[in-house]
Amino acid sequence: MTSATRVLVLNSGSSSVKYQLLDMRDGSRLAVGLVERIGEGTSRLVHTPAGGERRERSAPMAGHEAALRAVAAELAADGLGLDSPDLAAIGHRVVHGGLRFTAPTVITDEVLAEVERLVPVAPLHNPANIVGIRTARALRPDLPQVAVFDTAFHTTMPEYAARYAIDTETADAHRIRRYGFHGTSHAYVSRETARLLGKDPSEANVIVLHLGNGASASAVAGGRCVDTSMGLTPLEGLVMGTRSGDIDPAVTFHLRRVAGMSVDEVDELLNKRSGLVGLCGDNDMREIRRRIDEGDERARLAFDIYVHRLKKYIGAYYAVLGRVDAVAFTAGVGENAAPVREAAVEGLEQLGLAVDAELNAVRSGEPRLISPADARVAVAVVPTDEELEIAQQTYSLVNN
Ligand code: AMP
Repeated sequence: MTSATRVLVLNSGSSSVKYQLLDMRDGSRLAVGLVERIGEGTSRLVHTPAGGERRERSAPMAGHEAALRAVAAELAADGLGLDSPDLAAIGHRVVHGGLRFTAPTVITDEVLAEVERLVPVAPLHNPANIVGIRTARALRPDLPQVAVFDTAFHTTMPEYAARYAIDTETADAHRIRRYGFHGTSHAYVSRETARLLGKDPSEANVIVLHLGNGASASAVAGGRCVDTSMGLTPLEGLVMGTRSGDIDPAVTFHLRRVAGMSVDEVDELLNKRSGLVGLCGDNDMREIRRRIDEGDERARLAFDIYVHRLKKYIGAYYAVLGRVDAVAFTAGVGENAAPVREAAVEGLEQLGLAVDAELNAVRSGEPRLISPADARVAVAVVPTDEELEIAQQTYSLVNN
């Protein structure tokens, strides 16, 4: 047991660090902030202490160490320094934990080496996470640091959901399988949805639709993930802001052979220039809705393609689960875009799914039901909170 009650959550990207300092007695935020454009000439730090003024600074920060030192200085200025005895641990978001990491893990040299071994399957994410961990450990070598993996929640998927139907030896040699991502969000939202229904998570079957700029669906049976839409990488599944989601793999051969595109160009096309932005030039659902209201046909088609894919996944996961207690919408689009929620369940009355127009139109930051009172399956909006989930998992590990 520790008497310290604070946890710092770090989410390190290739050129950014997002952070939140939480008080675990009530889950409140003591400070939140972000550093952008690390290593790009002028970096920008935005820091907001609880109940205080937002502060913004621009300064060159050559790497993550300079960025974290700047964050530490901002926290210290609010009396929340990293040297405080109240700091219990640092929780790091780590994107890829492979098959080995099925739960939050205290970071040791050996754990870090294993996260490094996973870089070939997560080349865009794990390297930045590793730099963040190394830097934080250098700043506070005595403090427990915990890795919370985006993939961990999905490691309960049965083998028949996790394997691609390709040659087994090739798949195993290169660790090719469906890992899934956004796991911290799916874990948090499926649990909160069960709570909203007044059920224990072990009794609730939930379809979680995490619709942000990246988007994924999961089927959660009694608190355990049994299927999810992202795969080896976050490219598979739903139509996203800039990613295609599901696509015939032969499209990539075609682009290579017929269009003469390099592998890197195809990668960039499917990850950065596809999805909503590829279809209509905008990836922000607010802008797409505005254009639809003005009669824009491309925006309308992009919306319809987005919703059609979503509906197919709802149907697929309904079949996977057999019995569904709730469909939960979360993240930027899921929490805010009532027209997406309405369109996604439209016509699914035979499955017991419907939204009440008035409830769906309510804007709120609270978990809420939007289905009619007599609905067989609940439809819910449940705001995600990945930082709180990372902090809670970190704290429960070091506070045992
Ligand atoms: P996230 O990745 O969860 O931060 O979600 C970001 C996305 O949420 C944006 O790209 C928008 O498409 C969408 N979004 C955010 N706010 C709204 C809103 N008020 N209405 C519709 N979509 C929104």
